[in-house]
Parts: sequence; structure tokens; C-alpha cells
Amino acid sequence: MEMPEVIPVCHCGNPAKLNTSWSNDKPGRRFFGCKKFGSRFRKPCRFFSWFDPPLRPHSRIVLLGLLKKVRTLDDARKKERRT
Ligand SMILES: [Zn+2]
Repeated sequence: MEMPEVIPVCHCGNPAKLNTSWSNDKPGRRFFGCKKFGSRFRKPCRFFSWFDPPLRPHSRIVLLGLLKKVRTLDDARKKERRT
């Protein structure tokens, strides 16, 4: 994986982790988040910072189309396994 040149340090002092968002809003957009992000931690850290610039509308449409295809293929594969 391609690594960013500057890794931000989070509020809790840890280097932030580069993650990829797969929401329908921001498919494939990468962001920095804390390792402790999430509700499974007693004191979750809320550090959050985008790494990629916002998607242009065209890229978003292309990516959403690809995501939909991947999900359809995944579903088909799961169904095949069940039979
Ligand atoms: Zn943190």
C-alpha cells in the first residue's frame, strides 16, 4: 500500500492510521483515524482527518458503479456456496 509522507499524530499521542471509507457518500476516500477509534474502546478517540481531497462527482459515480458490481458478484458467490 502506498504510504503518506506525513502521518498526523492524534490527540492521544499515537500516530494516526490510514483507513479507507467505503460509504456510499465517499467511496474509496482515505482518511486518518486513531487506532482507538470505535466504540469497542472504553475511551474512544475521535481524531479524524481526510487524506484524499474530496472526490469529483464523476469519480464518485464511477466508483459507486464499481462497488455495486463487486457487491453483486459477492452476493452471487455466496449464493453459489449455499447450494
Ligand atoms: Zn487517538
